[in-house]
Amino acid sequence: MKNHSHFRTLNLSMLITFLVFALGISHSMAGIRYKTPPLKKTIQVLMVGGGASHDFDRWYKGTDVEILTRDGFANVRYTDNTDSIKIYLKEVDVLYLTNNQPIKDVGNRKAIMDFVNSGKGLVLGHAALWYNWEDWPEYNLLLASGGSRGHEKYGLFDIYVENKKHPVMKGVPKKFTLKDELYYFKVDPAGNGVEVLALAMTKESVGFPSIFVVNHPNSRIVGITLGHDGESHNLEVYRQLLRNAISWTAKQ
Ligand SMILES: [Zn+2]
Repeated sequence: MKNHSHFRTLNLSMLITFLVFALGISHSMAGIRYKTPPLKKTIQVLMVGGGASHDFDRWYKGTDVEILTRDGFANVRYTDNTDSIKIYLKEVDVLYLTNNQPIKDVGNRKAIMDFVNSGKGLVLGHAALWYNWEDWPEYNLLLASGGSRGHEKYGLFDIYVENKKHPVMKGVPKKFTLKDELYYFKVDPAGNGVEVLALAMTKESVGFPSIFVVNHPNSRIVGITLGHDGESHNLEVYRQLLRNAISWTAKQ
């Protein structure tokens, strides 16, 4: 009986230890929860990647898809086959373009324009904010309202938030530093215009729009020039920004 009681006491102390441990774990997990408002529904996303100079499979198809699908936030279809865009667009709320390869097919280009003109959301990440399209000027003019033709050598720079109140910047600190390519993004005054949410700059450089909203008449469009490799995709602040951008463009 004495032994039995001792055993029970031991069990109780083990249980308490376990509970403290489990609560500690869940507390630390809660710490990395994304500050996303309650979802009305799971957001349907088509992510388009592929092309040179970047590990699309690892950082976009892998990491970004994992970030966006966590907690049932989004369903994401990733493709690096640009000819399949128009087929998948029918089912999605947000198109997330990150591709560093041309979308050559006229039907797919038209499908993107129709999608955006119908009021659906668009997020343009990193390589998709380049001037890649000699024969498709409408892309940069109407969707990005500008573009990049160069970038600073890969390295450390700072991001300064200009509009902390915008929903895309929710949970993002006023300033953060990362290793990436500082895109020389220039706004085309002939385009729809942008609202700059954050500027990228080194100690030497002037500020370039790094996170911004394009003033499209029908659609919500967000540009994020960051995302060259794991130095951005693995940052909590980048992950928060991406989820914010998808949520806001989906009008959630
Ligand atoms: Zn890059």
